[in-house]
Amino acid sequence: MAAMGLKDTIYATLKRTGITDAVARSRWRQHRHLILCYHGISTLDEHEWNAQLYMTPAKLRARLRYLRDHDYAILPLADAVARLRAGTLPPRSVSLTFDDGATDFATHALPILREFNAPATVYVTTYYAEHRFPVFDTALSYVLWQGRHSAADVSALVEHAGPLAVATEAERQLVRALVRTYTDDREMNGAEKQAFLERVGALVHVDVAAFSASGRLAIMTPETVRSLPRDLVDVELHTHRHRTPRDADQFKREIKDNRASLAAIMGDSAARTHFCYPSGDYSSSFVTWLGELGVTSATTCVPRLVDSGSAALLLPRFVDTMNVSDLSFEAWVTGMAQWLPRRTENTLDPARA
Ligand SMILES: [Zn+2]
Repeated sequence: MAAMGLKDTIYATLKRTGITDAVARSRWRQHRHLILCYHGISTLDEHEWNAQLYMTPAKLRARLRYLRDHDYAILPLADAVARLRAGTLPPRSVSLTFDDGATDFATHALPILREFNAPATVYVTTYYAEHRFPVFDTALSYVLWQGRHSAADVSALVEHAGPLAVATEAERQLVRALVRTYTDDREMNGAEKQAFLERVGALVHVDVAAFSASGRLAIMTPETVRSLPRDLVDVELHTHRHRTPRDADQFKREIKDNRASLAAIMGDSAARTHFCYPSGDYSSSFVTWLGELGVTSATTCVPRLVDSGSAALLLPRFVDTMNVSDLSFEAWVTGMAQWLPRRTENTLDPARA
């Protein structure tokens, strides 16, 4: 077993003395709410590729078992925000949110949510739901990682002078950067990028056709989004193309396109009003623009509990990953983590998730 980090050692001590439990049951905690953030749930080896983005089903199940066994109230996000304002939150309230809306949300997260009757919000980026290929940068990163033992030289792909290996993370990072430049320079469209990805696969001995057909890392299709059970899952906004332009018109277009696409997919005319900043990237202008579009809640990746002073369009959120220990998760849901002094950059910088 790995040695316990300093933070976990502190959390373990506080837990042993009963302080953590007292914080969980305090009035202080009851006046606060924790929003948890997840991305993908592994169907195979995705968490070994990216432990920040992907969690195993077993770990998600263990989280929900903890919440159930310790009497946490899992509220739909919209209810939680309303009850926070009204001062009627139940003890130990949390909300679950999933970013992007990958296919594995429907196949691997949903059955676990159902098992625990746990409501969740899924923030769906719709451009990739309408198209049949996975997000290119993400798929490229995964395919290169899967081919890490191939000993391949991929320099021919990007017409690079000198060999390009894919064995280490640093080597793969360089390849990804060169590919980004190469595909951008040629203004490749989605289909061209997919063909490019298949050439990558051939070089590093990864079956990209099979990978693409599996739907792994891809965003849910419109049919899948529509089939999500409405008693359990709220489908909300995450921009159309998973980007946050600095230009007002372009930014608003991302929200409007996302909203129109989700309404068409869900077959309703709802003007969805709950939003999540892609990659946790937020700014004061975004807050103004979201307000003008009638958005009523927006979540960041700043790790804090929500309280009555939290701005509705800058709601803090804790990103739970494979790298978050059980003790650390417990410290966050109880509220204990917020009682410990932290470096200021932790509270000011959004985690890049
Ligand atoms: Zn996202």
